[in-house]
Amino acid sequence: SSSATTIRATLFPGDGIGPEIAESVKQVFREADVPIEWEEHYVGDQIDPRTQSFLTWESLESVRRNGVGLKGPMATPIGKGHRSLNLTLRKELNLYANVRPCYSLPGYKTRYDDVNLITIRENTEGEYSGLEHQVVRGVVESLKIITRQASLRVAEYAFHYAKTHGRERVSAIHKANIMQKTDGLFLKCCREVAEKYPEIKYEEVVIDNCCMMLVKNPALFDVLVMPNLYGDIISDLCAGLIGGLGLTPSCNIGEGGIALAEAVHGSAPDIAGKNLANPTALLLSSVTMLRHLELHDKANRIQDAILNTIAEGKYRTADLGGSSSTSDFTRAICDHL
Ligand code: NAD
Repeated sequence: SSSATTIRATLFPGDGIGPEIAESVKQVFREADVPIEWEEHYVGDQIDPRTQSFLTWESLESVRRNGVGLKGPMATPIGKGHRSLNLTLRKELNLYANVRPCYSLPGYKTRYDDVNLITIRENTEGEYSGLEHQVVRGVVESLKIITRQASLRVAEYAFHYAKTHGRERVSAIHKANIMQKTDGLFLKCCREVAEKYPEIKYEEVVIDNCCMMLVKNPALFDVLVMPNLYGDIISDLCAGLIGGLGLTPSCNIGEGGIALAEAVHGSAPDIAGKNLANPTALLLSSVTMLRHLELHDKANRIQDAILNTIAEGKYRTADLGGSSSTSDFTRAICDHL
């Protein structure tokens, strides 16, 4: 059923293949009557002094105002004197959790057909705090920062996510046997939050063992929550279990409930402008955005249309072994709707 109220959402088409796959999302949303009005913002070609980056202040204001957005890949401009685009977004919007659903796509054969897990990555601290220096020649130091505030915040998000998405278990991934203080504090915070959610099972898994288990039998996991660097690595490992970065969506959660969904892949300059890109990752990211808005009917319809198109196998882009263009594949999804 289509709702009468229109929701405004920010759209960063991004660079390279970004505008082509963003067009695909707009087309599918029109076809499915999604009540969303896009506010489009491009990465600027000059540094905005207010953000110290190529992202304009207006574009960040747009995300803050709307609370939801979709982001295509952004090519990081070379040169000094500015902040990286992704870092600017993360800091300015306080995007503290990165959520990546990973489930086997029916009809696209990989080693496993029963992957159905969610990785939730702390996105603001850990080894990514940017605190590195040289102590003396030949010796450098990097500070891993873990705070109670950020750990509680991401743990709370993970349990809340599990509860509201019908998930049964949260696994905290760590190396607290070695990183006793930092990962120890992270685990302590997870345990505190776990006590408030007695209906959700809670377990702790050491990261090395977690990798082994994921590769042997990914069905062992449900929701995984972890510090920044482990999340960076494990989420790509999980993407590999289901067919690669061209298929995996993600969503960044920020302070005050901001949700900025994004494809995990980059701008693919080698195929940009050629109508060859696979829009699946950005489309599935847009589905996570719809779920965040609780537009579950629309989300389910669009997700089914994408998965059915891939499963049918008649229209697939080159990265999945087919010969369809971006626009043919998109049209096939619209036909399935
Ligand atoms: P990439 O992901 O852009 O490309 C890697 C390979 O995967 C290429 O062969 C590309 O053609 C292919 N590929 C990626 N997405 C595809 C899709 N949707 N359909 C079909 N094929 C696809 O990685 P890269 O080449 O290392 O990076 C290129 C640029 O993207 C760099 O400027 C980098 O900084 C940027 N980047 C941005 C993000 C982001 O905005 N989140 C993430 C990664 C890289």
